[in-house]
Amino acid sequence: MDNLTPMMRQYHEIKQAHPDMLLFFRLGDFYEMFYEDAIAGSRELEITLTSRNTDREGRKIPMCGIPHHAAAGYVARLLKRGYKVAVCDQVEEPRQAKGIVRREVTRILTPGTAIDEQLLESKENNFLAALHRAETGTAVAFLDVSTGEFCAAQFSGERADEALLQELHRFRPREIVLARGQRERWESVLPEELLESVVATPEADWIFNRDYSERLLKQHFQVSSLAGFGLEDRPLAAGAAGALLHYVRETQKNGLSHVSRISLLDSSRCLKMDDDTVRNLELLQGMDGNRKFTLLATLDLTRTAMGGRLLRQWVCRPCLDLREIESRLDGVEELKASVIGMKALEKLLASVRDVERLIGRVTMETANARDLLALRDSLKVLPLLDQERSRYSSELLRTEIEPLDDVAELLEAAIDEDAPAVLGEGGLIREGFDSELDELRGIARKGKDFIAGLEEAERRRTGISSLKVKFNRVFGYFIEVTRANLDAVPERYLRKQTLASAERFITPELKEYEEKVLGAEEKIVALEREAFIRVRREVAARAQRIQKAAQVLALLDVLLSFAEAAHRHRYVRPQLDSSQKLLIRAGRHPVLDLHLSTPFVPNDLVCNNDSDQMLILTGPNMGGKSTFLRQNALIVIMAQMGSFVPADEARIGLVDRIYTRVGAGDDLARGRSTFMTEMIETARILNTATSRSLVLLDEVGRGTATFDGLSIAWAVAEYLATSQDRRPRTIFATHYLELTRLADHHEGVRNYCVAIRESGSGIIFFHKVMPGVASKSYGIEVAKLAGLPPEVVDRAREILKRLERKQLNLSGERR
Ligand code: ATP
Repeated sequence: MDNLTPMMRQYHEIKQAHPDMLLFFRLGDFYEMFYEDAIAGSRELEITLTSRNTDREGRKIPMCGIPHHAAAGYVARLLKRGYKVAVCDQVEEPRQAKGIVRREVTRILTPGTAIDEQLLESKENNFLAALHRAETGTAVAFLDVSTGEFCAAQFSGERADEALLQELHRFRPREIVLARGQRERWESVLPEELLESVVATPEADWIFNRDYSERLLKQHFQVSSLAGFGLEDRPLAAGAAGALLHYVRETQKNGLSHVSRISLLDSSRCLKMDDDTVRNLELLQGMDGNRKFTLLATLDLTRTAMGGRLLRQWVCRPCLDLREIESRLDGVEELKASVIGMKALEKLLASVRDVERLIGRVTMETANARDLLALRDSLKVLPLLDQERSRYSSELLRTEIEPLDDVAELLEAAIDEDAPAVLGEGGLIREGFDSELDELRGIARKGKDFIAGLEEAERRRTGISSLKVKFNRVFGYFIEVTRANLDAVPERYLRKQTLASAERFITPELKEYEEKVLGAEEKIVALEREAFIRVRREVAARAQRIQKAAQVLALLDVLLSFAEAAHRHRYVRPQLDSSQKLLIRAGRHPVLDLHLSTPFVPNDLVCNNDSDQMLILTGPNMGGKSTFLRQNALIVIMAQMGSFVPADEARIGLVDRIYTRVGAGDDLARGRSTFMTEMIETARILNTATSRSLVLLDEVGRGTATFDGLSIAWAVAEYLATSQDRRPRTIFATHYLELTRLADHHEGVRNYCVAIRESGSGIIFFHKVMPGVASKSYGIEVAKLAGLPPEVVDRAREILKRLERKQLNLSGERR
C-alpha cells in the first residue's frame, strides 16, 4: 500500500471491512467504484468504465462513477440484481479537513433492508428473514425494515423444516440471514428456486446465540422479559429475531424505534396453503407470471400502499378464526350498504401517502423535507377519516383513528412548503418557527438589500452606468467595470481580477456586507439542518402512535376494497361456521368471471365430509373441470379472508388447509420428473390432510402408463374416501371414467360431470357441472379444435374406435 495515494489507501482500508459488497466511495459530487467493484458496477449499470492512476504494479485502476444525487436509482438496480452496496460518505467538511477528508460507511444497502421508496414495491412488503436451527428444532424471523413489521416462529418435530418453508413461501423474503456454520445445511434444505430468488447473507454464528439475542431484544424493546411477545420459552425464535435485529443495526447504523414490537407467528390461526397451491390457484401471480389475472388483482381496489400490503398478507394467509372473519365481514357489509359512504372514504384514503414507510424513514433518519410534508398532508386527513368512520357501528369500523393533530401542527409550523429534497442547501424551515433563524435571515436579507442598493449608488458615484455588482463562489461579491470605463474607477476600488473585457474590484464596504450575508447564510444552512433534524426526531418520538393510525387506516382500506369489489361484481356475504360443510350455489370463478369474453356459467357445489365427501368430476377436455375446482377453492379463500364471494349463496365450514394437485410441470431444477413431483404432492396430501381440509385433485396419475396411473388414482381416491379420521372434502377431476364406479361402493362418493352437446360439426361446451358421469373425454374433438392436421385427427378416431372394440394391439395394428 506504500506507493498508493493517501486517498486510495483510505479506500482500501474501508473496502477491506466490506469485502462482499460494492463500495460507493464519495469523491466530490460523485460516488466512485474501483477495481472489481467498478467492473461489476459498470457492467450492471451500463456506465462507462474508466481508470485512474496506477496501482502498485503500475497498472491502471479500473473506476466508474455515478453522480451522488442520482445514486438512489442506481442502487435500486444493483439491489434488484442481488448486490449489496456500502455507501461511503465524506463525514467532515472538505474545507475543515486537515489532510485527507475523513470518510466512513454511513449506510449499507441490501435487498432485504431497503427503505427508500425507489427500492420498494409500494403494495408489497420487503421482508428480511433469519433462519436458525438447533437440535430442538428450527426457527425463522421476519422483519420489514421499511414498515417495522417484525415476527418470529419456532418449529419442532419431524415436519419442522416443512413448516418453516411454508412461512418462507408465504413471506417471500428478499434476503435471508443465516449463521455461517449452518450455511451448508440450509442450502440443502431450501428449494433451489427460493435460493435463486433471495440473497443469502451468512453472518457470524454468535449473533444467533440465545443470551446475546435475548439481551439485544430486551434492550431494543426496553423490556425486562420477552414473555409479553410470547418469545420467553422460544429460544430459537428469539435467536433468529435477535440475529435479524443485530444485522439491521449493523447495516443501517440508525435508530430503529419504529420496530416497536415483535409478534409470534401462529400458523394455527390461518388457512394453510403450500407454495404450489398459491401458484396453482394464481393468487398472486398467473402461471405465466402475469399479475393481472389473479385473485389479488381482482380484489385489490385499495387506495393506499398500506392497504395494498395488508390485502396481500390476507391473500397469503386467510383466516381460520371465525370471530375475526365475522367481524371483517360485518365491516364489509356495513360499508357496502352505503355507496355514498364508500365514495367519501375512498376519496379521503386516496390522498393518504404511505405513512407507514414515511415514519420508517423518519425514525431511521433518512426522511427528507418532502417526506415530512407528505406525512403532514396525510396526517391532516386522519381527523376527516375518523369522522367518516365514526358513522359505522361494526366492531372493526369502531376502532378509532387517533387524529395526531400535534404532529401535523408541528410539521405545518416547521417545514417550508417549498422545501427541497436535500438537506444541505437551506430552504427547509418555515419563517417564524425558530427565532434565531429568523434573526439571521433578517441580517442576510438586509445585507443583500444593501448590496443590491450598492450597485445603484456606485453607478451614481462613479458615473459608470454599466457598472455591475456580481457574485461568484470564488470571489464572493465584486464590482465589475468594462474596459472602456476603467478610467472612471475610483482609488478606493481594489483590483481583484482582470478579464478580457472587464476588470473586477472589491471595496472594504462591499466585503464587510458580504461577510455579514455569507456568514449569516452559512449559519442559516447549519441552523436549518439542525432544526430539521430536531423536528424529525420529535416526529420519530411519536412513531408508535403514527404506526397505529396507519394500521387502522390499512384495515379500513382493505374492508372498503372488499365492499367495493362486492358492490361492483355482485358478491354475497358467505355464511361461515365450524361444520365441515361446503355449499355453494351459483358460484363463479372470481377472475374468469370478469375477464371472459362470454358470460361465465355459474355452478353449484355440495360437499361435506359425510354424504358428499368426494366428488368425482368427469367430462371432456376444455369442459371446465379445472375452473370448477379452482373457483371453489378461491371462494373458500375469499370467504376466510373476510371478503364477500362470487356466488348466490355460500355456506362454508371453516377449511384448515387447501391442497391442490393440478397438472404439474417438470421440476427439473430439483431433479424430479413430472410424475415424481405429482407423487410427492399426492403423498403430502394423503399424509397431512385433516377432516377440515379441502383437497382438489386434477388428474392424478396421468404421467405414467395408463394402468399404473389408473391404479394409483383409484387407490388414492379410495384412501381419501375411506380413512376414518380424515375424509377431507375432496373434488377429484379425472379422465379415468373407471373411477366413477367408486360411487357404487363407497358412501359419500358422488359423480359429477360437465355438460356438453355433440353437434354435427363438433362439440358445444356448456361448462355446467351436474350429477352424472361423462360418456367420454372428447380429447380428439379438442385436438381437432386445436388444429391437429385432419389426417391425424381421422387416424386417431379410427384407432380409438378399434381400441374401444379391443381390435388393436398396442402398435396400432389390426388383430
Ligand atoms: P382439461 O381436461 O383439458 O384440463 P378442463 O375441463 O379442466 O380441461 P378448463 O381448463 O376448466 O377445462 O376450462 C377450459 C376453458 O373453458 C376455460 O379457459 C374457460 O375459458 C372456459 N370455461 C370453463 N368453465 C367455464 C364456465 N363455468 N363458464 C364459462 N366458461 C368456462
